[in-house]
Amino acid sequence: MKTIGLLGGMSWESSALYYRLINELVRDRLGGLHSAKIVMSSVDFAEIEETQRSGDWELAGKLLAAEAAHVEAAGADFLVICTNTMHKVTPEIEAAISIPLLHIVDAAAKVVTDAGIRTVGLLGTAFTMEQDFYRQRLESYGLTVLIPDEAERADIHRVIYEELVLGIVKDSSRERYREIIASLCERGVEGIILGCTEIELLVSGADSPVPLFPTTLIHAEAAVREALN
Ligand code: GLU
Repeated sequence: MKTIGLLGGMSWESSALYYRLINELVRDRLGGLHSAKIVMSSVDFAEIEETQRSGDWELAGKLLAAEAAHVEAAGADFLVICTNTMHKVTPEIEAAISIPLLHIVDAAAKVVTDAGIRTVGLLGTAFTMEQDFYRQRLESYGLTVLIPDEAERADIHRVIYEELVLGIVKDSSRERYREIIASLCERGVEGIILGCTEIELLVSGADSPVPLFPTTLIHAEAAVREALN
């Protein structure tokens, strides 16, 4: 079994989910007392969020590249960055390590295209929904990507940073997400990527008329496939 390197803490609420899912998936695949071999670095999310808010992606890249190097030095065979947003600094991280990176967009795009979907909605932080680094990589798989309108994007983003990363799960926020999912469906999406690792703590398949693609689960599944390959 390969050792999975997790770069987490963004937020720890979703990193805890990664940790649980990866171990459950290894248990299910191997049975008995088997569990995943993992090394993990977990950052202080306040420091990372500050770089996001100020737009200092250079500093974010430096901080996460250093953490990724620690994960490699601790024995990881490959790296999993436990957040969609911070894949923005993937080039800086990849430059600092010699182990492979299991990119969250590649994992998501594979599951979406395998499901026969061509037009997909994307929910995530404002950075993920609005900037090129995420959507362009999805589009490179032949997908058409639709994002919510401006007011909807603001609500999606606010709920992530003011509630979900703090472990706060509100029915009123789930209802708002359901409305936004419904309006994406009216615009013709065949599926929706939950492109923020905390969103699957709030909504599930029952909240959507089209299939949802939860990136924490999808990324965890890809990591376990790679570890047991
Ligand atoms: N975990 C979230 C994501 O998947 C948001 C937190 C962050 O900005 O890293 O994008």
